[in-house]
Amino acid sequence: MSVATQNKLLSFAEARQVAEKHALTLAPTQPEFINLLDAVGLVLAENLCADRDFPPFPRATRDGFAVCAADVQSVPVRLKNVGSIKAGATLKDSGVTLSTGECVEIMTGAPVPAGADAVVMVEYTESTGNQVTVIRSVFPSENVVARGAEARRGEVMIQRGTRVHHAVVAVAAAVGRPEIAVHRRPRVSVLATGDELVDINLPPERNEIRNSNSYSLAAQIYEAGGEAIIMPVARDQADELALLAGKALDSDLLLLTGGVSIGKYDLVEEVLASLGAEFFFTGVAIQPGKPAVFGQITHDGKTTPFFGLPGNPVSTMVTFRLFVRPVLGALAGASPEPLPFAQARLREPFSTKTGLTRFLPAKLGGTNADPHVELVGWQGSGDLMAASKANCYIVVPPDRDKFEKDEAISVLLF
Ligand code: AMP
Ligand code: MG
Repeated sequence: MSVATQNKLLSFAEARQVAEKHALTLAPTQPEFINLLDAVGLVLAENLCADRDFPPFPRATRDGFAVCAADVQSVPVRLKNVGSIKAGATLKDSGVTLSTGECVEIMTGAPVPAGADAVVMVEYTESTGNQVTVIRSVFPSENVVARGAEARRGEVMIQRGTRVHHAVVAVAAAVGRPEIAVHRRPRVSVLATGDELVDINLPPERNEIRNSNSYSLAAQIYEAGGEAIIMPVARDQADELALLAGKALDSDLLLLTGGVSIGKYDLVEEVLASLGAEFFFTGVAIQPGKPAVFGQITHDGKTTPFFGLPGNPVSTMVTFRLFVRPVLGALAGASPEPLPFAQARLREPFSTKTGLTRFLPAKLGGTNADPHVELVGWQGSGDLMAASKANCYIVVPPDRDKFEKDEAISVLLF
């Protein structure tokens, strides 16, 4: 049983806020320059700036005819085609300046020539020889993006603190940056506890199970921009646990799994307290994941945040997503990233009990017009299969116990 800790059982919203607020106090890891594609999932440590105007010339956004909008206000109207400009043509070698009554064939991505201020889509024209009949009018600037409209040279296009995803990669590529500055992956020690655990490359005895949590956590850590250091499994013995936890304090974050419930061999809180831990919470009114603890330990002048996550595999995953992720994100340099909630139509009714905010593994599907969600059947928070079939959690508030088919329900995306 835990000794030195007062009981700090928080609601989901309170616990999330504690994690988010603490995250704001954490200093991110050092920046380093790395190859653009190695930066995916990491966090920008510099602003990405436009090295020139975007677009660098007035750009046609449709295939059609560049015109002077004033010429096509009453339609149909016949114009003279004086040339053709494809993407990649220079304004000079297109050589064209439009005069009243003229148009020029133009392709998507090509520079709009002087004298033209709009593009009529090819669908709204009929051509015979060099005569083009325009059958639909355009307003000035229609189907043209003005030079510098997306960004002016020197302007910040992507702020530091942004997580690098494919669209950020596109911007970096567009401004000519094969290497970018990102924060190095925070080092996260993963310490699984439990006498029943064996590592995944050893054959388990009948009474043993494989340590899957260290690996699911390592995967979640990697996805969140961290580097996992998987430690040897700690037996349910205070001195062994203290030794291993103590060793992990030189990392940026310490995650323990198992041993945080109120069972006789749940020693994690007690051991962390003996190492001088300060606890921010020692339980959250959620299911799965109620026993989760969060705090920090200061040792030799260095303060290391830690989480003790419950050992049930789905509890470990859920509590990582809800509470560890914002802290790890901050260490990785990320600006606050709110949880991605959405609403979907419930396909099947279900009932549960009031009192806890529940995060139930579920599958979101359907169409854009009718997103729907259903629970994946599960055997409780130890059910790995259920978790692996899910792509979201249905979120049940603590005051609800019955849900009808077709009602709108909140989901948390993975
Ligand atoms: P505990 O939180 O230590 O009470 O463990 C709760 C349940 O999760 C028990 O059934 C454990 O066997 C299981 N469990 C604990 N740690 C792990 C782990 N690292 N990998 C897989 N299952 C675990
Ligand atoms: Mg245990």
